[in-house]
Amino acid sequence: MSSPTPPRADSRLPRWTPEDLARAKRDLVERPDHVRDVVVVGAGITGAGVARDAAMRGLDTLLIDASDLAYGTSSRSSRLIHGGVRYLEQGEIGLVFEALRERTRLYTLAPHLVRRATFVFPSFAEDRLQPWKLSLGLSLYDLLGLYQSPRHRRLSPRRARELEPLLRGDGLRGAVAYEDAITDDARLTLATIQSARASGADVLTYEPVDSLARADGIHVVTLRDGTLIKSRAVVLATGPWTGSRLLGSAGDELLTLSKGVHLVVPASSVPVAAPVVIQVPGQRRILFAIPWGARTYLGTTDSAYEGDPGAAGVTEGDEEEVLALVRRVLPGATQTSQVLSAWSGVRPLVAGKRRGNTVELARTHRIVENDDGVLAIVGGKLTTYRAMAEDVVDRVVSVLARRGMETVTPARRCTTHQHPLIPTDEAPHPDADSEVGRALARRHGATAQVMLRAIDDAPALAEKLVDDLPYRWVEVQHAVDYEGVRHLDDLLRRRIPLALTDAQLGGGVMRRVATMLADARGGSQRDIDEEVERYCALTETETRRRPRP
Ligand SMILES: Cc1cc2nc3c(=O)[nH]c(=O)nc-3n(C[C@H](O)[C@H](O)[C@H](O)COP(=O)(O)OP(=O)(O)OC[C@H]3O[C@@H](n4cnc5c(N)ncnc54)[C@H](O)[C@@H]3O)c2cc1C
Repeated sequence: MSSPTPPRADSRLPRWTPEDLARAKRDLVERPDHVRDVVVVGAGITGAGVARDAAMRGLDTLLIDASDLAYGTSSRSSRLIHGGVRYLEQGEIGLVFEALRERTRLYTLAPHLVRRATFVFPSFAEDRLQPWKLSLGLSLYDLLGLYQSPRHRRLSPRRARELEPLLRGDGLRGAVAYEDAITDDARLTLATIQSARASGADVLTYEPVDSLARADGIHVVTLRDGTLIKSRAVVLATGPWTGSRLLGSAGDELLTLSKGVHLVVPASSVPVAAPVVIQVPGQRRILFAIPWGARTYLGTTDSAYEGDPGAAGVTEGDEEEVLALVRRVLPGATQTSQVLSAWSGVRPLVAGKRRGNTVELARTHRIVENDDGVLAIVGGKLTTYRAMAEDVVDRVVSVLARRGMETVTPARRCTTHQHPLIPTDEAPHPDADSEVGRALARRHGATAQVMLRAIDDAPALAEKLVDDLPYRWVEVQHAVDYEGVRHLDDLLRRRIPLALTDAQLGGGVMRRVATMLADARGGSQRDIDEEVERYCALTETETRRRPRP
């Protein structure tokens, strides 16, 4: 049992190369009798938060994912850190309060990853929610947010169109403007895991957990290749994959899955000045048109889903549905042929009594414990991940105490709300205020200083990957050195979202990036070819489009 030590969060970002990933597995195999305090299965945002919290409380923590970190729902969301305006209508006051509190915390913990934005929510004659009702709801939203953000404003039709000229004029009754935040879901997950590593957690990727057992009070986690890991506690954070296979009967019918699709178009096709909220006629749901630099993304849908959550693709019907809903409010908006890319995610919703309509299911989380004492955390939101983690790690600590393995001491209390996700004490580089420095800081916060130093040694790294997007070669090099990358899609889909934003879906650079990765891993020409083929196949499954060299 590890002793209750204060978090040893590093002041510098630890390196995390392909070799470090391989070494973590070798260490595990070489120490079969090592007993962890907690093994967390699933490195989406939920598992990332749990691993960070556990490690910061001084618990000996191992985080394992069957694929890359954020491979599942956590890289396929609407990318909002929000209270969830629409949950007010469902009476989810507690969820909205918690989400708004977490939004405020994340502004401080991860400022470059959680950016404030003013959302414009219009109302047309045919819409269910008229301006007075929107304004009433947003007054409650302001109150639940404890007035930590600017209060919402009610806008006349004229003022609404001044703010967002693309809005349809005909039938526009008015709008409200309010604050929420936009994030990069995959990078928020990555930053949380980097913080967990800096606090002592070990991380394994591409290692599916096949089974769980318990003997003499100790859990035995078996990986697909037969490797055994011992632990005092196990937390499943497997999102939409959670079910009876690892949880037994406690996992039966625990979740209802719902698919949501987003489309990416050139900003010139839907040049919204601010995020626009769009009501769906006849339904209690909304979708968004969100500016994303040289692109705009549109979504999402909400339909019941069955099958492998990793294979939920985008259909032609999904694309037509989203575009039709957007065009009603933003006429003249895009044609299907202008869709550059798309993504599709599966929500792991806690099953309710009202089967069939996933729109009405609550987004709250639940902790389940099976007869063997395995804990699972399901449901919830990207926004509330830190609070969800606190909840489950409190439970881990009390489970360990119940089994006489742990005493709750002040050092075991949650401190995740007190520490920034990314170390902030990197010395400023003289070029911090240059165009490149500012562009990198926008995406990487204080870590941009590390990248600027890499550019000093190799100036060509400052060049862009593709002309019309902000991503630079230094970010590729940095991902290989610090971001736990194993495969090409880790890099071009989740560390840098080229598969979602580039007109060629990363096809123009994929071979060069695969070569950099092979150099770091000690791979051959054959590895490069395999990585490129794997990337093209995965991108086609997800986006319905194949990268073009
Ligand atoms: C379309 C859509 C839009 C959304 N928009 C928002 C939003 O704007 N804001 C917001 O707050 N929330 C949003 N959400 C919700 C949010 O994205 C999810 O609640 C959250 O990402 C779930 O994270 P997770 O870690 O629980 O699951 P996941 O991210 O799916 O992670 C589960 C992980 O478990 C791993 N795994 C599975 N089985 C095994 C195994 N046997 N062994 C090892 N690893 C395994 C998987 O590989 C995966 O990486 C949205 C969800 C969807 C689908």
